[in-house]
Amino acid sequence: MSIDVDPSASQTDLPAGTPAQPAVDQTGARPPLVVTATADPNAPNAPDAQAAVPKELTHITERDLHFMGLAQAAADEARAAGEVPVGAVLVRGDEVIAKGFNHPISGHDPSAHAEMAALRAAAQRLGNYRLPGCELYVTLEPCLMCAGAIMHARIARVVFGARDPKTGACGSVVDAFANPQLNHHTTVIGGVLEDECGDALRSFFADRRRAVRERRAAAARDSEPGASEPLQDTNPVNRTTG
Ligand SMILES: [Zn+2]
Repeated sequence: MSIDVDPSASQTDLPAGTPAQPAVDQTGARPPLVVTATADPNAPNAPDAQAAVPKELTHITERDLHFMGLAQAAADEARAAGEVPVGAVLVRGDEVIAKGFNHPISGHDPSAHAEMAALRAAAQRLGNYRLPGCELYVTLEPCLMCAGAIMHARIARVVFGARDPKTGACGSVVDAFANPQLNHHTTVIGGVLEDECGDALRSFFADRRRAVRERRAAAARDSEPGASEPLQDTNPVNRTTG
């Protein structure tokens, strides 16, 4: 099973052959979630950055599943608008500050990823370009652009769903958050409702491929000689009148 993706896709330019399921080891167990710890270069004698991260930030809770569900609903809005279905919500405590969905096509905006939309809306609402103490839930692994914006906003925690092996910047292609020179604030957890988030993308691209095939088939039928002519017998021998 693979995520076959239209190469013209924007936010989710996932290649064909993308694993729909995380690789399964020989015991059949799923691999651990992607967890990128906040690196604290100032931590004295810290054996590694993971040790500096409070346990509650690296464990998935019912609360996480709830907010990821809201991000999935935002992704549905993207799909309804004909955009690649990726959604995000930005949360402070138990309050949803903002949501966003992917819309680069309709917005004529290469930066209009779901995370960027949610970050912009939240910053406007809170009147602050920094959003410390906030969490960002997004259905697809953030790209490098969004990772940069997340760091600039000083988001405390990012929770993402499906991995993006083509542009993912939380471990799939690069791990921007693992660089202690870049990241001082953000803990990242991936793979939350991964199958569900990935299914939304797979179904979107399957529908789009089907629509393309149907358009091509219709165009081929229309281009056949006489295809657009009304069916009639043009052989005068067979005519019974005039
Ligand atoms: Zn992005």
